[in-house]
Amino acid sequence: MIYNREKCLITLKKAFENMLEYFQMNNIDIPNIAIVNTNADEVIYPDDSKMNIFIQENFLKNTPLSFANLVFIHECIHIYVHMIPKAKDARYIKDCFGTAMIDIFDIDADVCSFLISKKLNCNHLNFKQYMLFVSEGQKSFPITKQHQTCRLIGSLMSIFVSDIFCKKIIIYPEIVPFENLANVIIQIEGSMFFLEAVDISEFNTKNIPNFDNFMFNKIYQFLEKRFEF
Ligand SMILES: [Zn+2]
Repeated sequence: MIYNREKCLITLKKAFENMLEYFQMNNIDIPNIAIVNTNADEVIYPDDSKMNIFIQENFLKNTPLSFANLVFIHECIHIYVHMIPKAKDARYIKDCFGTAMIDIFDIDADVCSFLISKKLNCNHLNFKQYMLFVSEGQKSFPITKQHQTCRLIGSLMSIFVSDIFCKKIIIYPEIVPFENLANVIIQIEGSMFFLEAVDISEFNTKNIPNFDNFMFNKIYQFLEKRFEF
């Protein structure tokens, strides 16, 4: 992996422009993207005016650009779309609304970052490649270590079905402790649905693309039915 500072800046700027286009945010100026070496806790963070966004050079040096790009878009969505610019803001939401709410913001950012990167790559990015990018990126940036299981399952399933149905679909499973069941909230381009407890005993993240676990089947059937109308 060869680090090229200029190439990184060009790629990240393009990603930001695509994010603005995706959300149709015509009134936002593109911030100055600065590669820095600081000891801030966050890998990507804005200044108070949000006119400057900082990204740690070490992160770019040690992470494949395809994955760094996904993380960059994810963070920019938190900052410029969700209005959750700093880690302290995320903690505040967690305190007010609980972990599930912050997980849903994260899943939303993951799905949008996938769809934006897909567009950036002229539709050449699919779920399988996404998984490759993520597993490659995890070696240097173990993001899922901090993830809740619900968030991880939710993100992967959401991205998988969004890719199939070419729509933004958010799936959030809330696991019922000790019962191998999950209550599922599904949001399809703004409309929300509740799917009552589904069996997750066979659930395995490796099985997601294989249609052979009960949870996935039930969600898939539900989506197929919705899209018949
Ligand atoms: Zn996040």
